[in-house]
Amino acid sequence: MARYTEAVCKLCRREGQKLFLKGERCYTDKCAISRRAYAPGQHGQGRKKASEYGMQLRAKQMTRRFYGVLEGQFHHYYEMATNMPGKAGDNLLILLESRLDNVVYRCGWASSRAEARQLVVHGHFTVNGKKVDIPSYLVKPGEMVAIKDKSRQSNKFKAVLEANSAKPVPKWLDVDAANAQAKVDALPTREEIDLEVDETLIVELYSK
Ligand code: SF4
Repeated sequence: MARYTEAVCKLCRREGQKLFLKGERCYTDKCAISRRAYAPGQHGQGRKKASEYGMQLRAKQMTRRFYGVLEGQFHHYYEMATNMPGKAGDNLLILLESRLDNVVYRCGWASSRAEARQLVVHGHFTVNGKKVDIPSYLVKPGEMVAIKDKSRQSNKFKAVLEANSAKPVPKWLDVDAANAQAKVDALPTREEIDLEVDETLIVELYSK
């Protein structure tokens, strides 16, 4: 499975906001955005105002990096979004938010989306009682996502669940912490997705 492997804090500094790519560190004062809130590189502190294309590109890159999705797959989500009823920008974010790795992260069962992706690939989760090890699996309303019984007993999972127990869970997921399972009550609305991006810029970029 292809994935981005360079220093991830640079990605947050490039986008000028926290993308929460490093788990616990993101919530501490060691976060690179807190310490150096400017773009990386020699000219990072002297950048000029971005062009219209530059802003569209940044919006797309930030969203793609937030969810840890590579270019080709991201474009595929955009095409899916344009074929759905409603606004393409909203649909795009809702599709990304519905990915199983994101749901695992949102439920507090992983410290970052990257960790969630790895845990999914290793087969630690079920959807409606069946093992699903595909991070891009799109959950649907009414589905039940759960940590496999055997996995829940491992020290690693106990530590992850403990570390993330206080993190807020979005309203569209009904988490039953005692049984390590979550029902997808509904797909999220745009307002329930906490990514600060103007998604219309992404639509403009791909519409050219
Ligand atoms: Fe981004 Fe987390 Fe690194 Fe902060 S610690 S810059 S939020 S990846």
